[in-house]
This record gives sequence, C-alpha cells and structure tokens, in this order.
Amino acid sequence: MFKRSLAILAAMLTSGGALAAPTPDAGEAQFRAIFKEMIETDTSSATGDCTVMVNKIATRMKAAGFPAGNIQILIPPKDARAGNLVAFWPGADPSAKAVLMLGHIDVVNAFRADWARDPFTLVEEKGEFYGRGVSDMKGQDAIWTDTLLRLQQTGAKLKRTVKLALTCGEEPGAYVNGAGWLAENHKDLIDAGVALTEGGGGDLDDAGKKIAVTVMAAEKTSVGYVLETTSVGGHSSKPRDDNAIYRMATALKRVQAVPYPVQFNAFNRPYFTGIAPRVSLAEGAAIRALLANPKDAKAAAVVKKNVSWRAMLGTTCIPTLIEGGHASNAQPQRVKATINCRLLPGVSVPALTASMTKAIGDPKVTVAAPAAAQAGATLNKSAIPPVTPSLLEPLKKVAAAVYPGVPVVTMQETFGTDSGRLIAVGIPTWGVSGLFRGSDAGNIHGLNEHIGVQSVMEGRDFLYGLIRAYADAP
Ligand SMILES: [Zn+2]
Repeated sequence: MFKRSLAILAAMLTSGGALAAPTPDAGEAQFRAIFKEMIETDTSSATGDCTVMVNKIATRMKAAGFPAGNIQILIPPKDARAGNLVAFWPGADPSAKAVLMLGHIDVVNAFRADWARDPFTLVEEKGEFYGRGVSDMKGQDAIWTDTLLRLQQTGAKLKRTVKLALTCGEEPGAYVNGAGWLAENHKDLIDAGVALTEGGGGDLDDAGKKIAVTVMAAEKTSVGYVLETTSVGGHSSKPRDDNAIYRMATALKRVQAVPYPVQFNAFNRPYFTGIAPRVSLAEGAAIRALLANPKDAKAAAVVKKNVSWRAMLGTTCIPTLIEGGHASNAQPQRVKATINCRLLPGVSVPALTASMTKAIGDPKVTVAAPAAAQAGATLNKSAIPPVTPSLLEPLKKVAAAVYPGVPVVTMQETFGTDSGRLIAVGIPTWGVSGLFRGSDAGNIHGLNEHIGVQSVMEGRDFLYGLIRAYADAP
C-alpha cells in the first residue's frame, strides 16, 4: 500500500505529553468493513432507508464490543425511514464539555443506468474509491464510527466525552432533517463544546499535490428560485408567436448572462492568500492580481478555470430543473424552471430577487424565492463561530504530523451543511474532515462520485488524532 503517518502521529501524541500513545486496535480492516457497509446500504431519499443503515451500524458496534447502553437509535415520529444514531464514549470529567462528531448518512439520489459502476457497491480502482456517498459523506461517517470504536477498543481515558451523531436528511428531499430534529428535541444527547462535520478538508492540485488543509469558517447559502411562465397553448399544428418554452429559454439565457462580480470577504480572502504560494506560478500570479484588484478580468479568467475557486469568489446562480408542456402535439401552457443560487454570506435575498427580475426583464416570467429566504429567515450561514486558537492550534499540530509541510487555511465552503442547525441551538460547529479532493471535489452529488484511497486513510489518521486532541484539551 502506501506509507502511513500513524507512527509519526503516535509519536507526536506521546511526546506531546498530554495524550497517551494509542494502543493497537482492530485497524484498517474494521474501518473498511464499516465503510463498505455504509456505501452498500442505500440511504438516498428516492430508494433508500436511513433507519436500515443506523440499525446495521448499531449491530456492528455492539458486535465489536461497544456498550449497547451507549448507543441510541432515534427516529422522528413523522418519518420511519429517517433514523439517526447517537453514541458516546464517556470522558473522565463529566463537567467538561463534550466533543461531537456529526455526519449525515443520507446521500443524493443515484440512478444505476446513468453510472459507469453500481453506485451502491463500494468499488476500489486505481487508487480511488467509487460509489454514492464515498465523498459526501460516508467516508467521514465511517471514520467517525471507527474512531469511537477505537477509543473503546484501546480503553482511551480522555478528559471529555466523545459523541457521535449519524443523522439523516441533510440533502434536500423526502427525509426529516435529523440534525435539526435532534437539536430541537434531544439537544442533551448531542450537546458539545466543539462539533465537527463535513465541509473543509484538503485541496489537491491536478498533479495530486496537497495545496492546503482547509477549515470551514463560513458557508454559502442555497436559495432555489422558481421561474414560471404560461401561454395560451393550442394545437401544435397552428403555432402562435407566444410560446412558453421559447419565453423561458430567453429568460434563462438572460440569467446566464448576468456577470456576478468577484467579491472578497473575511472568509475567502484568507483562503486565496493562503494557497497562492502553493499553486502553479501562473495561478499564484493571477490570485495575487485578483486579490489586489477584484475587477481584473484577465486574472479572474485564470482563477475561474478551477470550478471550486470560481464558486468561492462570489454568488453564483444556475438552472438545475426544468419542466414544461403537457403533450407532444400541443403548444406549452406552462413552463417552470428552478434556478439554484449560492449566496456569499451577507448577500440579501430580496436584492438578488430584484436583480434577477430586472435581468430577465419580462413581466410574463414570474421570479419567486422561497418565502422564508425572501424574508431573511434562513440566512444564518455566516453565523459559524470565529475560528479560535483553541480550535486551530491542536488542528495544526495533528495536521503537521499527518500532512507535513502542508499549511492549514480557513475557507468559505461553496455549499451549505448541517452546521447551521446545531449553531442555532448553541453548539459551535465547524467543517473539518482532513479529506483531500481535487478541484472537482470528487464530483459529489453527480455521477461516479469518488475519493482517493490515500485521502481516506490519511483522513482516518488525522481525524482520530484530532478528536483525541480536542477530547483531552484543557
Ligand atoms: Zn454532505
């Protein structure tokens, strides 16, 4: 296989004084078995079931010797398929705030006919894992579960209790959102002084070199606009000038033409500043030029070639769904399109609605944001607590052992996570995964989702070391 950093990490944890060296545990085989079971249990909202999966995980944990009394399955009364699992390994000091490992176990729908490989079989090929959820986020879920088992198997005596919450319903769809439901109904079970979930990770360049370990310090907010237009319709043999499909096509082209400006803020500026010395000379020069002048179109064109960087530079909007017409031999009476916008922290939904309406410039096309978003009720994504030294210093130490020479930078995630649901009830939550991905981010939500085997195995070492460090922090 490849060289592992566990020995270095173990040495560091011992020499650090605060932590004992981990004793041997069930090892990589245990982790791989958990990961495989998670991927091969369909938890998509269209065809899967989260309750089936959490029951399997609970059974596996008990079989590994984990105390049954420390595991709970919690199912929202309204949704029998949306089961969640909560478990804990007790710390020595019951008054010390716990450390929570949070992961969503549901996945975006995946249809076999579209995929090159079966999405619900874990495939390992040329150094990559393939399968729905390998990257978003069953890799991290499996690491969290394995970490809790390792603490128990090594008899870890840590200051703080370590908690695990595997929740359903993060992806939009049919499930009840488990993180929000637990936060509102069972906060005591998941309460913690620090909670970690997906978001952040690590960036690889095209050659596979590690650019930076990233910590999610802010998220973008997702708003789904619905555009709608109608026309009188009629027999398709007698075309009219007013056709709802043509009208919508024009409206969509106008949305596409809107130039969203490059905008630096307190979250994306430190990220670009931090990675500039680590990328190619041409990219580094373009990033520096853009930081100096966000209106530099030539520099922007270079930086925006990377789809992750493009997303981080500003608010974006793209069409994701379209439906229209009612018969192949009829002129359309109604067309609906969804425009998914990802807003930088602080961007006002009503202002974006107004500018989109103006850009479309057609009163026969209605533009509607969800009422709560339009009212500002869901815009809390910049509320992630500041990244403090108590969060960052242990992280830098563990990262230096597992990823020597790779800088740690804070970043603004291009998507949203469940962190806001916990932050809303006072549980500080950040995105940290140690999982390195290329600029396609493993094509999460898309076809042939993948993640590097090495990335997962090193992430396992990193997160295990990090959770131990936080659990023993003063
Ligand atoms: Zn996710």
